[in-house]
Amino acid sequence: MKLCFVTAPASSTTEENSITLGVLCLLSQLKQYHECHLIDMSVLRKRRTIDNIENLLNTCVSEIVSLDPTLVGFSCMCSSFPIVVQTAQRLKRLLPHTHIVFGGPHCTGLENEILNAFEFVDSVVIGEADRTILELVRWLESGKKYCPPLQGVSIRGISQQTKSFFNTPVELDSLPIPLYECLLPSEYPELNSMRIDLPIPIDAGRGCAAKCSFCATRSTWGMPRQKSPERLLVEMDSLHHRFSKNYFAFTHDSFILNRQNTEHLLKVFINARHSYTWGCSVRADLLDEKLIEEFHMAGCRGMFFGLETGSPNVKKAIGKVIDNTKLLNVVKYCLSHGIDIITSFIIGFPFETEADLQMTLDLHKRMVDLGVRNSMVNMLCPLPASRLFREGYDIIYDGFPPNLSSLDDINLQVQTLIQEHPNLFSSFFKYMPRHISLLELSIVQVIANNYCSVTRKFVPLRLKAQTNFNQLV
Ligand code: SF4
Repeated sequence: MKLCFVTAPASSTTEENSITLGVLCLLSQLKQYHECHLIDMSVLRKRRTIDNIENLLNTCVSEIVSLDPTLVGFSCMCSSFPIVVQTAQRLKRLLPHTHIVFGGPHCTGLENEILNAFEFVDSVVIGEADRTILELVRWLESGKKYCPPLQGVSIRGISQQTKSFFNTPVELDSLPIPLYECLLPSEYPELNSMRIDLPIPIDAGRGCAAKCSFCATRSTWGMPRQKSPERLLVEMDSLHHRFSKNYFAFTHDSFILNRQNTEHLLKVFINARHSYTWGCSVRADLLDEKLIEEFHMAGCRGMFFGLETGSPNVKKAIGKVIDNTKLLNVVKYCLSHGIDIITSFIIGFPFETEADLQMTLDLHKRMVDLGVRNSMVNMLCPLPASRLFREGYDIIYDGFPPNLSSLDDINLQVQTLIQEHPNLFSSFFKYMPRHISLLELSIVQVIANNYCSVTRKFVPLRLKAQTNFNQLV
């Protein structure tokens, strides 16, 4: 069978393309039995020097039509969803018999709403697609109208109980290594051996045990699982031999599952005496001096900390209580061991007060002053699969997409699409703040992200927010 998978950028002008590990993993399994194609719209845009959305959509659709596949799978992220929807709609008009399946992190929890809203979508995968896609393709290949009950997928017109695989999650070591070979090193700088500064991402684990109210990781991927240290070493060896790279980024929101498991992993890495370095994302409060030293000895040279807020009240409200003093000590200790740190903060919680916001900005400043590689202040994105969203706070569409570079793509047609389906395009909305205006928040975000550790000033100074935020500059 001929299969085509499509990944989309957040906009026609977004510069970066990133490796989509989930799709590469599916391709690894399917290519053994089927003719598989991957179309990365970011690469298409660069190769054809496309600078507007109409041309990007038309070029992508004509590429897919020329392949005439039996199934087209779209990988859906919240930011790229408008482009995915428009591409699928045009494609279905030209290839009405091609099965269009949506999957990826954006779809879980929205499967029935997507099928109801868009008649050109034939099925939607819930959670991990690794096993579901095999069953879906097998059914399509059989040509039978009757579809046996398939777990983890909602199919148009077929009445069946749709469940995810959360009860029997995918055993990650059993999955093949993602099919990096279908990416050209010239198009993906991570794979280019000349770019020693960029790590190759490795699918290290999925899920999270925490229940932070704004986050959808647990409801999308379930409880945390990780590949074994032996398997991670095999993947690093394999990527080293193929692309001459020594630097990797483990993708897993919660790299520390528990102390015992992590100490075992680090011990295996240390005993392997490899020369690889790597980065990961961890909860800073799970670290201490001893563990940080072990991370460093095992090759860790970069960590991402989602710190979210400096305010104890907001920490409590979102269910992520981490003591600020402990955070600062952990960051200092990591930096003193040569581990680069990236910190991320969120503003725009609906219940956030000016005092809460000030505490977040203060902590962000402290991080920059300590010398972290990057500290980001992001606007909270409403995610339907999160508890906060289900708590029913109002969301508002202010016309500004999360990624300002995609402004040119938000034409009237897309605006109407977004506003007609607030749940499906919730990332283009913001929570309605109760104590601070959206304008103030947006200005504060710009100023905070321009804080300079050398001058210890927020720049640009002319973008000073209203009186209550004067002390920032
Ligand atoms: S924010 Fe991080 S720690 Fe909290 S649930 Fe999400 S992935 Fe887990």
